[in-house]
Amino acid sequence: MEHIYSDFYKQPVKITERKPDVLGVVLHDDAENYQAKDYIDWLKKRITNHELEKGWACVYVDMHTCYWFHPSEYTEWHCGNTFANTHYIGIERCQSKINGVLNDKAFMRNEEASFKIAALLLKKYQLPVNRQTVRLHKEFFETECPARAWSIHLGNVKTNQENIEKLKDYFIERIKSYDNYSSEKTLDIIG
Ligand SMILES: [Zn+2]
Repeated sequence: MEHIYSDFYKQPVKITERKPDVLGVVLHDDAENYQAKDYIDWLKKRITNHELEKGWACVYVDMHTCYWFHPSEYTEWHCGNTFANTHYIGIERCQSKINGVLNDKAFMRNEEASFKIAALLLKKYQLPVNRQTVRLHKEFFETECPARAWSIHLGNVKTNQENIEKLKDYFIERIKSYDNYSSEKTLDIIG
């Protein structure tokens, strides 16, 4: 996997303040057809047009590329919820549009990449992998996100605590399978 970093990783100027504490990750489905690399220009445009308040996350992932937009220790605008934005790292899983460019099997390869990144980030912050640290956008905000994963792994079921936990448990199991994926070196390049 190729890791690409924005200028926010090189320059002292950041968009936001530091998070008071990092408590875990939120796995998002972007509901778009964009690859991770497409978000480089997409986010540049958002900056140029002064539209960052529409939202952005730390990292954009597909099966080939990880685009690190903004350092994970800083507040992100990814959940529409102040507590989540200031305490969780947003992982945008790319090309997740339902009936979009990827079939379910291909999207699940992007998902697997996101689980590896989640495993690395949680390890970097020395956090366990559990229902407190692995979160869904819809736990914090009125949204269908992560809609693609919801439809693939749960089907057409309503949003309630039981189904939220079912999907989270699947994410947790997959993230745990990458427990030995990291080395000191990989932890240095992520976040
Ligand atoms: Zn989301």
